[in-house]
Amino acid sequence: MGAAERREFRVEGTVQGVGFRPFVYRHATRLGLSGWVRNDTLGVLLQAEGPPDAIDQLAALLTRDPPPLAKVTRVAAHLLTPTGEKGFAIVETRAAGRPAAPVSPDMATCDDCLTELFDPNDRRFRYPFINCTNCGPRYTIVFSVPYDRPATTMTAFRMCPRCQSEYDDPADRRFHAQPNACPDCGPRLRWTDPKGQDQPGDPLERAVDALRQGRIVAIKGLGGYHLAVDATDELAVETLRRRKARDDKPFAVMVIDEDSASRLCHLDETATAALRHPGRPIVLAPRRTATELAGLVAPGLTELGLMLPYSPLHHLVLRGVGRPLVMTSGNLSDEPIAHIDTEAVDRLGPLVDGILAHDRAIHIRCDDSVIRIPTGQVLRRSRGYAPDPIALPEPARRPVLAVGAMLKNTVSVARDGIVVASHHIGDLDHLATYQSFLQAVEHLPRLYGVPFEMVAHDLHPEYLSTKFATDLDTETRAVQHHHAHVASCLVDNGRSDRVLGVAFDGLGFGADGTLWGGELLDADLSGFERVGHLRPVCMPGGAAAIKEPWRMALAWLDAAGGPDLAERIGPTLGPDWAAVARLVRTGRHVTTSVGRLFDAAAALLGVRARITYEGQAAIELEALARGGDPHSILPMAIDRSGDLPVIDPAPAIAELAVATARGDRAAAAYGFHAGLADATAELACEIAQARRLGTVSLTGGVFQNSLFANLVAARLANAGLEVMTHHRVPPNDGGISVGQAAIAARSD
Ligand SMILES: [Zn+2]
Ligand SMILES: [Zn+2]
Repeated sequence: MGAAERREFRVEGTVQGVGFRPFVYRHATRLGLSGWVRNDTLGVLLQAEGPPDAIDQLAALLTRDPPPLAKVTRVAAHLLTPTGEKGFAIVETRAAGRPAAPVSPDMATCDDCLTELFDPNDRRFRYPFINCTNCGPRYTIVFSVPYDRPATTMTAFRMCPRCQSEYDDPADRRFHAQPNACPDCGPRLRWTDPKGQDQPGDPLERAVDALRQGRIVAIKGLGGYHLAVDATDELAVETLRRRKARDDKPFAVMVIDEDSASRLCHLDETATAALRHPGRPIVLAPRRTATELAGLVAPGLTELGLMLPYSPLHHLVLRGVGRPLVMTSGNLSDEPIAHIDTEAVDRLGPLVDGILAHDRAIHIRCDDSVIRIPTGQVLRRSRGYAPDPIALPEPARRPVLAVGAMLKNTVSVARDGIVVASHHIGDLDHLATYQSFLQAVEHLPRLYGVPFEMVAHDLHPEYLSTKFATDLDTETRAVQHHHAHVASCLVDNGRSDRVLGVAFDGLGFGADGTLWGGELLDADLSGFERVGHLRPVCMPGGAAAIKEPWRMALAWLDAAGGPDLAERIGPTLGPDWAAVARLVRTGRHVTTSVGRLFDAAAALLGVRARITYEGQAAIELEALARGGDPHSILPMAIDRSGDLPVIDPAPAIAELAVATARGDRAAAAYGFHAGLADATAELACEIAQARRLGTVSLTGGVFQNSLFANLVAARLANAGLEVMTHHRVPPNDGGISVGQAAIAARSD
């Protein structure tokens, strides 16, 4: 046996609040090593002393077999002089300094806890709040730092002696599990009527009975309330739609396990991995045609949002009901999800037959995250993902707060080498959402110890986030919307080099004061140059054209074929067509938005003249196109006559206008996708070559359309270009704050 050695290891990544120190403690003591382990501002720091081969074994475990929720990005080691220390200890976290990753996202119930949950001999048998170091609520219950029980909403519950001894024992799997609880000392369920009055009986049984009878039940989850109903009960789902004033927007469905999921959707490896992710997102996957689900769950769509249970309460409810449940955000129409009990009674009471609540408070409202298959792209990054830090491609020059856009708002903070994006906050035009925004801009910098020196905001002067930023007494940096999209894609891919950004979305304020949305930008984190765009057209009636795609159809008809074409096709679009056609002629509200172009195409094909939720027309057009002939194409033009090259869809618009009469709408829908993909790729290749750019970044909400995204990507790859897409950061406005933060953090 060789002489004892002492080595120090610095472990970086998501290593706090995930059971890393007990893991080190267990293995170090098993290997007969002495020393200590502790959390610090950069992650986990440990020193181990003993035989070199035992230290080697410990070192190997740090990277090869860390605890399930840990994400180790780097381990650095160096030799020290042995001290003769005896025993191994977990040393208290140093309060000084800024935490690197103070709190992890909320995590789905782990397998060990599930085993106990359904073990009649376990003291937590059927206890709906069972959790451990590897699972349970985190971000949603924290109101302060350092992350410790008194800083969470669990401070209201005093641990019983048995829970306390688990919490204090480094060898226990509940060591420092802040939400640790049991039936003797922890949170309890309540079953109330819609007015919030407690009702007799076992709350869980009452809720399960109600659901089995087709009733609507509000269920308090990790980040807020869901409205739940039997997803196989047509009448029950219809009632929910009516009460929630939700006409068409699809409902997500929770199923008990992967087998049940695969009976409803076609699941590939990406889908299965996403369903199993401890963040338990909603996974949008292609649906099977004949299933037991009620037709009104996701009308007219070829895909379905599925998720697995993520809290012990969900497991108990799902097992009890024995059928898939619609689990939709507890809100009326577009309001934010309810997360406070009194608010739930006020807002959800009128919609439900009963409320399954409990007395563990939710501090941060957190919607379910959404991932789309086949790409595996995160479309909404929220519960289970926020606030995991994302590495910045280049370190921040200064700490920054970024306040995001107006719709799908998130906020981010950046400092040192990381950017941290908040949960999904939502559309700021709702007062309650704006209040959540105010809470988030106060909470996130505090949680991450970011004394920000600069606030990044959108260029749009009317966004409430912009107004908030410019009212602060701090230096600000306005970031153009589509530049932020490209930057968010760069961050997502850990890159900071110049790329050709193709940023296609609904609307964003342009550098020239018009509304952009079909942009080709030569960009990196420090700046951008607009190098091409979609042909601009009028947006008749301004904001009204967003809700009414048929108005955009008229604008494009006029652009493509003048008043004659508008006059010929107009009467098929709507009774007010003549008035709107006159608006088009005034030429106000000019936009280059590709999102609005998709709207126009959807209206021309009779898919949708008016929408009831954002993106509806484009989503339904994509669904139609997926059934179309994959050889069809409606070619578009590229106009190089002006200052900048322009994609001109006019030839395709004329074809779309007559496609319905010809009777092949699906082929035309596909052809529109293919034609736009062709023109986009052709122009992108041309510009990339002229500017010697090797990479094209596809970003913006339009690229949530995976049919279109794949068509463009395939063409670019064929031309030998590297295609950069989104993975962890949403391509839509949910990613804007990440891009803003990365740009501002690099500014001098
Ligand atoms: Zn657990
Ligand atoms: Zn207890």
